[in-house]
Formats: sequence, C-alpha cells, structure tokens
Amino acid sequence: MLDKKNFYINGEWIKPNSAEEIAVVDPATEEDCAVITLGNKIDIDMAVKAAKNAYELWAFSSKEDRIKLLEKLYENYKKRWADIAKAITLEMGAPKDFASKLQAGTGASHIKSFIRYLKNFEFEKPLGDHAPNQRLIYEPKGVCALITPWNWPMNQVCLKVMPAMAAGCTMVLKPSELAPLSSMILAEIVDEVKFPKGVFNLVNGDGATTGDALTSHPDINMISFTGSTRAGALISQNAAKDFKRVSLELGGKGANIIFKDADPEAIERGAFRCFRNSGQSCNAPTRMLVEKSMYNEAIGRLKKYTENFEVGDPKKEGEHIGPVISENQFKKIQALIQKGIDEGAKLVAGGTGKPDGLDKGYFVKPTVFADVNNNMEVARTEIFGPVLSVIPFETEEDAIKIANDTTYGLTNYIQSQDHDKVKRVARKLRSGMVDVNGAGIAVDAPFGGFKHSGIGREAGEFGLEEFLEVKAVGGWS
Ligand code: NAD
Repeated sequence: MLDKKNFYINGEWIKPNSAEEIAVVDPATEEDCAVITLGNKIDIDMAVKAAKNAYELWAFSSKEDRIKLLEKLYENYKKRWADIAKAITLEMGAPKDFASKLQAGTGASHIKSFIRYLKNFEFEKPLGDHAPNQRLIYEPKGVCALITPWNWPMNQVCLKVMPAMAAGCTMVLKPSELAPLSSMILAEIVDEVKFPKGVFNLVNGDGATTGDALTSHPDINMISFTGSTRAGALISQNAAKDFKRVSLELGGKGANIIFKDADPEAIERGAFRCFRNSGQSCNAPTRMLVEKSMYNEAIGRLKKYTENFEVGDPKKEGEHIGPVISENQFKKIQALIQKGIDEGAKLVAGGTGKPDGLDKGYFVKPTVFADVNNNMEVARTEIFGPVLSVIPFETEEDAIKIANDTTYGLTNYIQSQDHDKVKRVARKLRSGMVDVNGAGIAVDAPFGGFKHSGIGREAGEFGLEEFLEVKAVGGWS
C-alpha cells in the first residue's frame, strides 16, 4: 500500500498535524491501495499562511519568469505522463488507454494551452483608442482555494492550478479524497520545477472538515471549485461572509437532441458519450431526445449497441469502460436504476446488478431506459453512472422545451444535417456549451454552465481571467 500521508506545504513535503487517515480504494478491486491524511484546521492554516507569504513575490513576478517555470512544468509533466495515467487508473478506475490519452492527456493540453494564453495576454492595456489615458491593469485575485472532484482528476486540477499560477495567484489545492494520487504526482512535479516556496500547496482531506476550513479561511481571496451542486452551495455560503471570489463548475443533465436528419452514427455516438468514463462526466449527454419518426429505430439500435458495450478491468488495454468510483456511488446508481423501473420507464438494456463475470469491483451495467418522460427522476437527477434516458419529441420547439426543462445548463448536444435548424436550436438552448454533430468543444473554449451548473468559465483566456481582478487607472500618461 502506498504511503501518501504527507502534505506539500511551503515547498516541502511535511508530516501533517492531523493524525486522521483514510485509505484510497482501488474501485476495480475494492482493495485499499494508498493511505492519505485528512487535513485539519491547523494544516489548512499552515498551507494558507505559506500561500499568503508567497503572494507578494509571485504576484509581481514577471510574465517571462512565470512562462519559463510553466514551460518546465509542462516538460516534466510529459516525463511523468505514464505515472499520472497509472495513478488515475488506480484511484478512480479509468481504463489504461483512456487514462493515458484523455485523462492525463487533457491535463497536458491545458498546461500547453495556458502557456500560450499567458504569452499573449496583455496584463496592462488602454481602455480603448478613444481613452488612451485610461489604463486597465489585470492583477491576480490573491490566495486561492482550489477544490476538485475525482471524475477527471488531472483535467480539473490543471484547469485551476495552471491559470492560477499563470495569473500570479498563490494557492492551496485540495484534491478529492477519493482520487488524490495523480494530484500528488503533480505536486512532485511542481517541487522538481522549483516554483518559489508557497506558491503551490497541497493538503488532502474531506469536504466537511478540510474543505470547510479552507473555504472559510479569512486569508483566502478566491475559491475555484468543481464538484456537486450541493457542495457548491455550501461553499458559496462560506464565501459570502467575506466576499471571496467564487468560481463554480457543478453538475449537468445534458440533452442530446437527435433530429431525423441526423448523421448515421449519431445514436451510437450519443450512447458512447453517455457511457464514457463510466458515465462520470458532468457534461455527459444523459438525456437522449429522439424525434418520433425515428424513435423505434433508435431504441433498437441503442439496445444492440448497449448489450455489446464492454465493461472490464481498467488495467487492460482497450476501449471498454471501468468501474464507478466507490461503493457509495455504485449504490446510488443502483437505486436510481431501480427508481427508473419503478417509475415506469422501459428498461431496454442493462439494469441493476453487476455485469456478468465482474463480481468484485464497482462495475455497473450500461443501461438504457426508453419512454422516459422528463419529470421522472432518471431524467432530472444527475446519476453519474452509465445510464441513458431516452425521451421522444415531436417538434423542434418541443425538443428545445424538454432540453431546457432542467435545473442544470452545462452542455447540450444537437444532431442534424440542417445547418439553419442547428443554429436556431443552438441559440435557444440554455447551457454554457452546445456540441453539434460530435464536433466536440475545444480544449481552450470557455467551459462552464448556466443555472445550477455553476458560475464562471474555465479553460483558455476565460479561464485565465477567472484568476484576475481588473483595475481601472485614470490619468495614465
Ligand atoms: P463533491 O462535491 O462531493 O466533492 C468535490 C470536491 O469537493 C471534493 O474534493 C470534496 O472533498 C469537496 N467538498 C465536498 N463538500 C465540501 C464542502 N462542504 N466544502 C468544501 N469542499 C467540499 O462532488 P463529487 O462527488 O466528488 O464529484 C461529482 C460532482 O462533480 C458531480 O455532480 C459532477 O457533475 C461535478 N462535476 C462538475 C464538473 C464541471 O466542470 N461542471 C466537472 C466534473 C465534475
């Protein structure tokens, strides 16, 4: 079992004050694979103090110095790529190839992208040609609390740590207690690169104690959080007391609108995008809205596709999906599948119980429900498992109405070859992102949601600006 009990504070790995430890569980075997410490208030105080002390120096460091360090970090990340991918497979069960290409891969893409945006970003510029003596100055927001979940661990950590560093912020990262191992490798990389002491600190721990101590700390100026809507609301209450800046990336219940003129692969592609990462993606298209005239055909195709969809050992190569993160999550998904059956949705494939031959590990059967109506729990709750709810619709207006009838608003999807219709619908969908015909959303496009899906945007220039305050100076000559 790996000993990962220490925290990274003020440029060194130190023994925590807290003696409370928990095991990290490999979800594919249900066996403990590492032990970490759950930080207490004293550990958080030490980490925040280190970040605060480092702030003046780092905030006023030159852009060139920050670029040099981030470029070195990128080189070292590439050297540790395989270790990061292996850690992600172990901590959250992402299959080997997926862990390397997508999980570790998106982390690398974000580092590269933020270096590019930092190089091009103007930290000082005139308000406009009409007002040359009015100056805008972009300054780092200060000491940041970065809190991340377990489902895309390196993607989410890099979406926060890299723009915070690029902006000149200092930070305390608290990764998910369920999947902290890849973040600890990132801390080793930061250490190798020799960022100034205290710029980056890592404290492990849970939400109720460690996360709460961090987000209520008076010396934290900004909180960037990715996780559940439940925790996002609690964190916002902490932040409101002293007006901390808050950026929230929360849940989703994306609709995938399939018009009858969709391309031939749209149905299977939609199911794949729902099941990928074992359904544990906030932007997954979990509600498939299918135009009535092709509904029966779509259900037949989904049945065939899903029954042949492979679930298996994440340590082997291939395109299969692995387990879900934990026993709790497994039980929650099982209960929601049962709820779908009880509410009268038609089970087309999958269902409760584990897939054949996978008795050990938190493996879930890819599941498709047909004849779902948008008021059923399987259409409203973010299941965070490989469960697809299929809803028929008659007209374009119907489809838009159903898609928008959710508290969430992260990513919606449109499948149609009629480009005018696509544009009309895309403009009316209430979500931060709209993915058309499988094009995907660029790695540096603004990532974030409307409504209960969050506040703010990550990635690219928008993601960098999240960590900057703007100051207006009049009379600059
Ligand atoms: P979670 O909210 O339980 O935990 C996320 C992180 O927040 C963990 O590090 C946890 O320790 C911490 N946390 C929990 N309660 C806290 C509190 N009261 N104060 C401070 N920190 C607290 O979520 P999860 O189950 O780990 O992750 C799944 C959720 O994340 C899903 O709802 C998913 O949609 C969402 N998510 C959103 C995005 C996005 O970008 N919009 C991306 C990935 C995941």
